Amino acid sequence: MNAVAEPLSEAQTTPPLLRVRDLVKHFPVHGGLLRREVARVHAVDGVSFDIAAGETLGVVGESGCGKSTTGRCILRLIEPTAGEVWFEGRNVTAAGKEELRALARDMQIIFQDPYASLNPRMTVGAIIGEALIIHKLAPDKAAFEARIVELLQTVGLSPDHMRRYPHEFSGGQRQRIGIARALAVDPKLVVCDEAVSALDVSIQAQVINLLEDLQSRFSLTYIFIAHDLSVVEHISDRVAVMYLGRVVEIAPAKGLYSNPRHPYTEALLSAVPIPDPQVKRKRVRLQGDVPSPLRPPSGCHFHTRCPIAQKGLCDVQRPVLKDVGPGHRVACHLRS
Ligand code: SF4
Repeated sequence: MNAVAEPLSEAQTTPPLLRVRDLVKHFPVHGGLLRREVARVHAVDGVSFDIAAGETLGVVGESGCGKSTTGRCILRLIEPTAGEVWFEGRNVTAAGKEELRALARDMQIIFQDPYASLNPRMTVGAIIGEALIIHKLAPDKAAFEARIVELLQTVGLSPDHMRRYPHEFSGGQRQRIGIARALAVDPKLVVCDEAVSALDVSIQAQVINLLEDLQSRFSLTYIFIAHDLSVVEHISDRVAVMYLGRVVEIAPAKGLYSNPRHPYTEALLSAVPIPDPQVKRKRVRLQGDVPSPLRPPSGCHFHTRCPIAQKGLCDVQRPVLKDVGPGHRVACHLRS
């Protein structure tokens, strides 16, 4: 394990709803006749952050940067290799089966692909109601159906959709079904894992508006995972940028978009189109592809593509997150 503890400077007057410390997930790769472990995919490599109740933390980065694995490790849908996750003071990473089941009521997930994440053989009512049965939240059939109707209406669908099957719905409607399923147990934290990435741009906006409405109605806290910085800009209070399993910059959304400090964030932002044709932004083109998480580069993982990398420093020493402004932290040797 080579996780480096990231001291957090976020002054907390009240304890955070969620605390993630030095989270690591390495997937073993087996090979040879004896199927021995021959390598490890470093999917998440020492991630730390806090989230306050009611906040939305956007998590962005290219495909394979570890953002979805981070979200799933927080919920223990994937077992972390190391690190700790605390939810309302409860240690999620140490929770046994029963405690985990109780925690699942508070922490839910909305998946990326509304086509793949809904069982095609179940009616929408059965999909949404599954968690009501598991957590014994509906005393009888009438209460069960009343709750399904309420949830369908909450996400902008009609009560008669209850008896239909997922294939009868559009992509946006299916994602609304996924949202209703997550809301069924009255969660406090929802991980939106690329929840709008598979949708058309106009439908994306509708689903993001719905998520914002639901957040204020039900005091929800979101981890909003996306590969596109423009998608998370409006919904996020803060944004964490990930590269090869590590958070390289975390800041209030406004500060990150107006004054990105990490060279990788600068490159990502330079690719985001600006609606005003008068405003010009210099495009930063990164060399090469993201290196394999099987053999991440030494020192700063970004040094093989960074336009300002310094030999003898960046390829040797891992930069840790440090404060560069109010709530703004960056992991780069050359930015302060
Ligand atoms: Fe670039 Fe070095 Fe900063 Fe990494 S530490 S982002 S390689 S300048």
